[in-house]
Amino acid sequence: MSDGHYLERAEDLIYIGQPDLTADEQEAVLGVLRRGWLTRGPECAAFEKEFCESVQASQALMVSSCTAALHLALLVQDIGPGDEVILPSLTFSATAHVVVQCGAKPVFAEIDPATYCLDPSHAESLITPRTRALMAVHFGGHPADLKRLRDIASRHGIALIEDAAHGLGGAIDGTPVGAAPSIACFSFYSTKNITTAEGGMLADPDPARLKRAERLSRHGMDTDAWVRQEGEAPVWRYVVDEIGYKYNANDLLAALGRIQLKRLQEMQQKRAQAWSFYQEMFSDDDRLAPPQTSFGMTHAMHLYLLRLCDECSADRDEVVTTLRSKGIGATVHYDPVHLQPVYQKRFGTRKGQLPVTEKIASRILSLPMHSRMTDQQANRVSIELLRIL
Ligand SMILES: *Cc1c(COP(=O)(O)O)cnc(C)c1O
Repeated sequence: MSDGHYLERAEDLIYIGQPDLTADEQEAVLGVLRRGWLTRGPECAAFEKEFCESVQASQALMVSSCTAALHLALLVQDIGPGDEVILPSLTFSATAHVVVQCGAKPVFAEIDPATYCLDPSHAESLITPRTRALMAVHFGGHPADLKRLRDIASRHGIALIEDAAHGLGGAIDGTPVGAAPSIACFSFYSTKNITTAEGGMLADPDPARLKRAERLSRHGMDTDAWVRQEGEAPVWRYVVDEIGYKYNANDLLAALGRIQLKRLQEMQQKRAQAWSFYQEMFSDDDRLAPPQTSFGMTHAMHLYLLRLCDECSADRDEVVTTLRSKGIGATVHYDPVHLQPVYQKRFGTRKGQLPVTEKIASRILSLPMHSRMTDQQANRVSIELLRIL
């Protein structure tokens, strides 16, 4: 995470992820400030439209975070107490938290050892009459196996919800991650492939569900301030028919997002450059398993996840710590959610429950990967890593 340390930034530190901002982003935000309408308004609507075009979604709602989008995606499926949702444990804790926040039970499934995404067969084996949804994570940017997951979801009459926080820029057989009929939640947090500082997007092709998500994102109110001030009805009048949340985005963030989205391909190309540099450096080394991309898939290259093989005697935590001591922002995505104390306490999850996930999670590390990385930086990271090993 880089933006918390902006002022301490030294030239020779290499960050795990870094926002890539130009004068165009500055100008767009200043434009909103000059016009004076700051909260949700025309910039959000324009960003939503452009985002849909970019990922081939039929409709989308910008919200305050991907976490908010995930929560809303579950709520509009009426998922609540007594229900179960199946998801991978190798993910950011928010993917599981939103299930709990709905009152439902998270059921953790294994990952595919090649892609680190939800294992469709294991997920299917965990389906019970209480299961209401599968949640897939496009882990690190590798698209989840949507073809098989969709088939399972439709055979069992349950929803498939994608945590696409890492997935923007990815594709399956040329179709972008997020394309209809996906229910997909994107993140624009500072370290993601595009950023609005904080922000998220919910793509859901069902008009009634997305409309309800929009209402829930502004306290359950039927209209927002921009619509009311543009409309004929009295500006103060709104109707609340559900207890909602404060999950709306705002025009400052959307203006930033519109420029970032325009620059997505350019930024992805720069990621690809650092990516191939690493692949070149590590692919012939028996001790290392660099990321693979399944046939037909386009990797979003959000995280460069390197796995230490059994042949590698080095301790993963020690490798990460040593890299960090040399100014290289390596890190671990993530300690599995089912091993977090609160999940063990509340849901009885335990060590040994998911051997594939636990093994992989103990051997992977993430190397710096962002669109501002230079070849020299990728080179320094690679050399340091190989020297440590
Ligand atoms: C970043 C992230 C989120 C949360 O995104 P926010 O926009 O910060 O709420 C959810 N899931 C995964 C896998 C993430 O990496």
